[in-house]
Amino acid sequence: MNKADSERMAGILENMGYELAESELNADIVVYNTCTIRDNAEQKVYSYLGRQAIRKRSLPNLKLVVAGCVAQQEGESLLRRVPEIDLVMGPQHANRLETLLNKVDTGQQVVATESNQILEDVTTARRESNICGWVNVIYGCNERCTYCVVPSVRGKEQSRSPEVIKMEIKELSTKGFKEITLLGQNIDAYGRDLPGITKNGRRENTLTDLLYHIHDVKGIERIRFATSHPRYFTSRLIEACFDLPKVCEHFHIPFQSGDDEILQKMGRGYKIDKYKKIISRIRELMPNASISADVIVAFPGETDQQYKQTLKVVEEIGFDQLNTAAYSPRPNTPAACWPNQIPEAVKIDRLKELNALVDKTARKRNDRYKGKVEEILAESINPKDDQQLMGRTRTNRLTFFSKSRPNQEDFKPGDLVKVKINEIRSFSLSGIPL
Ligand code: SAH
Ligand code: SF4
Repeated sequence: MNKADSERMAGILENMGYELAESELNADIVVYNTCTIRDNAEQKVYSYLGRQAIRKRSLPNLKLVVAGCVAQQEGESLLRRVPEIDLVMGPQHANRLETLLNKVDTGQQVVATESNQILEDVTTARRESNICGWVNVIYGCNERCTYCVVPSVRGKEQSRSPEVIKMEIKELSTKGFKEITLLGQNIDAYGRDLPGITKNGRRENTLTDLLYHIHDVKGIERIRFATSHPRYFTSRLIEACFDLPKVCEHFHIPFQSGDDEILQKMGRGYKIDKYKKIISRIRELMPNASISADVIVAFPGETDQQYKQTLKVVEEIGFDQLNTAAYSPRPNTPAACWPNQIPEAVKIDRLKELNALVDKTARKRNDRYKGKVEEILAESINPKDDQQLMGRTRTNRLTFFSKSRPNQEDFKPGDLVKVKINEIRSFSLSGIPL
């Protein structure tokens, strides 16, 4: 989500005539698009800002912008902490960057953190890839997970209309994009805030309906979406993924903890059994689907036994990939004030043990690719070996292969290539193009 916001802001700057600088230490304008999901992400920005503040003392025309979730969380107090900052802007204001910079040009320091109806994105994002594109479908989050800062910094859910989303995807396809990833913090909430269209008692603008609506865009070969919430994930959605050929067999569904009591304290609204049922249903229809998730260890009050429940789930499900984190107390979240915080040393131990287990299970899951022929969408040249292309399987596994083929033109980014997998590592594969 943060990357997608960055790409849109970069697009606005490019339209304004700015060019990408070689390094942040010789740029005329520096925009930090910040993250505050955990404390270590937040702390990074202060060290970056310190360096820029020193530069600004000898370069008064340097413009310093702090965007994103730290900006939203800290607001005006950022100006007190680093008075050299020109503009503090929350994530709901990303598409207003030009207007806000114009205000800065009149000689003021600007803080834009009021809640805001997000403007339709009329700018063209400056996308990092020209094969795979992010497409926001819903901004914000109305959940109240007790550990999470997102709802307070990204605000209420705002769905984009199916028409506008489809228009953006069509535009991407005209530019040669082959894959899109639909984005939302809780993508299963898509459409809840749109004017209700119901048919036979069912809401007609869910994520599933959206997938059917956009599926026919010519030129787009692959469709992905993230992030799913087990509380709202429906079997209708699983069936649609099975039914629609462009929707890839990869599901990112965070479970957060393997223990029901912890899940309840997190305010997640499901039990682990429901989660397991979702995964079984996916695997019934799509046995090769890859499953990834996010999980938190050492949530306040988590006992050793409760933590072991998480390990058990990791072993049982066999994730293809898992984003792991130790609980980090966040401002304005309920769990941060609870007295039963877990000591740092325990956090580190649990995280280490979990990560070791994840390495093992991911490796084991990868074994299923050995000798298989996979369809890879080539995304770019391998930066470490210019004779190789890199891309991903439909299941989102990074794969390397040689770009050359006898008596024919080389494969190039954007090609869909059948690759026979002959080398397996924990987080990537290599193979021979057929
Ligand atoms: N909307 C998604 C992801 C939100 S943030 C969802 O609901 O799953 C991405 C991940 O960061 C979360 O899934 C969670 O695992 C992790 N996270 C969020 N707040 C955290 C905190 N306070 N401490 C540690 N990890 C956290
Ligand atoms: Fe945070 Fe929960 Fe919303 Fe995800 S669903 S963004 S974890 S509050």
